[in-house]
Amino acid sequence: METFIFMGNDVVIPEESSCLTDIDHVSSGEIQGVGRWLELRPNMPLPEGWKAVPRRALWEVMGERAFAMANRLYAEMDWRSNSVFCGRCGSPMEDMQDRGRRCPSCGNTSYPVISPAIIVAVEKEGKLLLGHNKAFPGKRYSVLAGFVDLGESLEDTVRREIKEEVGIEVCDVEYFGSQSWPFPRSLMVGFRARWLSGEIEVDGLEIDHADWFAPEGLPEIPGSVSISRRLIDDFISRNS
Ligand SMILES: [Zn+2]
Repeated sequence: METFIFMGNDVVIPEESSCLTDIDHVSSGEIQGVGRWLELRPNMPLPEGWKAVPRRALWEVMGERAFAMANRLYAEMDWRSNSVFCGRCGSPMEDMQDRGRRCPSCGNTSYPVISPAIIVAVEKEGKLLLGHNKAFPGKRYSVLAGFVDLGESLEDTVRREIKEEVGIEVCDVEYFGSQSWPFPRSLMVGFRARWLSGEIEVDGLEIDHADWFAPEGLPEIPGSVSISRRLIDDFISRNS
């Protein structure tokens, strides 16, 4: 079974064909049939021939399969470190056979939590709505996204997020595709939608600028790893 080594938000990988036989680690574990992980102390000095790569950059360095496997293992490790004690009574949790954990004192159970988020390409007369999020690097623009609230359908979230972030109403909300987004435990669900009414008015909190962009006049956009880029590429292919 393959082993991935994590240190903070980085994956530690060999520069060439170095073999790491024994290294100090603070935790280890496995998902049966998937892989194993070792967790290193943050910022510890690495042995000769090894380097730390940010988890988000692993796709470019090692490919899609390694990216997916490393992030799945990381999400499991992260969940386990957050479920050591029962959230109801504070007793130490125990593993169950089905990958969940159970509190022996009060019976509370815990399973890996996934936080769904929507991401949506809104179109108006052959133009695409793109926004600049304050957290984005540089001048990068993207389609808008947001987390699903308790009690909402995914379509409700699409309408609410767009209204909150840029002040417009949308219609014809249509499923596009999804992508696991383990930073740390999300699932991005992609949609297409059409402008219905209203003028763009950004919330100023998350989004500091947004506009309608024609395919031939796009700003800087995300790389090919993300579903946001797939949504933008889909818009381009249908409008040029
Ligand atoms: Zn308990």
